[in-house]
Amino acid sequence: MSSYKQILVAIDLSDEADDVLQAAADIAAENKAVISIIHVADLPLAPYSGWSDYVAPYNEQEVRQMLFKDLAQRVEDGGLSRSLITIDFGRPVDVIIKKAEEERADLIVIGSHGRHGVKILLGSTANGVLHRANCDVLAVRVREVINQ
Ligand code: AMP
Repeated sequence: MSSYKQILVAIDLSDEADDVLQAAADIAAENKAVISIIHVADLPLAPYSGWSDYVAPYNEQEVRQMLFKDLAQRVEDGGLSRSLITIDFGRPVDVIIKKAEEERADLIVIGSHGRHGVKILLGSTANGVLHRANCDVLAVRVREVINQ
């Protein structure tokens, strides 16, 4: 296996993110690599109470703060520093690829549910990252979620 120097780990808010973080932390420790953590946020849909008074309930800063609290706890529970976290907005695949290029990451670590069939055709985040990345991608097989 190559020796990695700059690792980007992408985490969502699922329980499985802990496994993805752990895998990335282990590889970073083995390779003495720099690690960074990206989470891609969606702004919540704004409620409409009429045509004229559209009100956005949250701005990006508020959403970032709420997410950061949750993510920081998980990241610290995994033995990593909260200062490694970046929260950006956009389509997860686009943002993850852009971040990897900016940081010249030589490895992206993501989770994979090992889904089959139509979900692969529609495109998962893992699938999108795997096909667009210019560097190695480690898809960590996370625990299957039943009822899908
Ligand atoms: P999915 O294709 O949605 O099942 O997600 C597979 C993996 O992509 C997750 O385990 C994460 O590693 C990554 N991922 C999905 N959504 C996001 C997100 N919003 N921000 C960062 N990483 C994500």
